Amino acid sequence: MDLLLAAVLGGVFGSFANVCIYRLPKNRNISKGRSFCPKCKKKIKWSDNIPIFSFIFLNGKCRKCKKDISFKYFLVEIISVFCFFGIYYLFGFSIDSLLFIILYCFLVIVFFIDLKHFIIPNELTFPLMIIGFLKSLDPNLNKLIFPNFLNSIIGGVLGYFLIWLIIFVYKKIRNKEGMGLGDAKLLSASFSKYENLVLIKFFPKKV
Ligand SMILES: [Zn+2]
Repeated sequence: MDLLLAAVLGGVFGSFANVCIYRLPKNRNISKGRSFCPKCKKKIKWSDNIPIFSFIFLNGKCRKCKKDISFKYFLVEIISVFCFFGIYYLFGFSIDSLLFIILYCFLVIVFFIDLKHFIIPNELTFPLMIIGFLKSLDPNLNKLIFPNFLNSIIGGVLGYFLIWLIIFVYKKIRNKEGMGLGDAKLLSASFSKYENLVLIKFFPKKV
């Protein structure tokens, strides 16, 4: 039952992730405005916007204009369902699960935005970095999986420096940009690892 709920949450998040992937690079508000078909701009009814199922029922086509809905939306939802399910299966109802879910949520959005637009918005890397550093202040942190504060800082700085160095060398040799500083910030965030802001918000007693 819990696992089913985790999978459903994954689908719901996947749907939200699609909104972020579509709107963040365009600097549009992710919380306001209903979803619409990118082809015909018509609003999508809630019943046609159910994660995974709607795509299957509509046969991957918009109800209004009959044009193909990008398979990417479906893919993001499916991956999210499996990841939420898998993380919950492995770590159960725990802080570890929450940390991994948060990391996954950021990474999946980053991946698909970067894939299409070759950018990684600061709106995604900065919170992830802050979360990464702050989470190590949690005294109950699982030290087997997550680095402590010092390692977190070292990892963060090292991650940023590594990508910065690659960019610098690549620029010297090829005279063009191979990667952006967004990549540096992302690796920095990944090295330092996620979360704790959310912990303070949702589990004030634990922190
Ligand atoms: Zn349409």
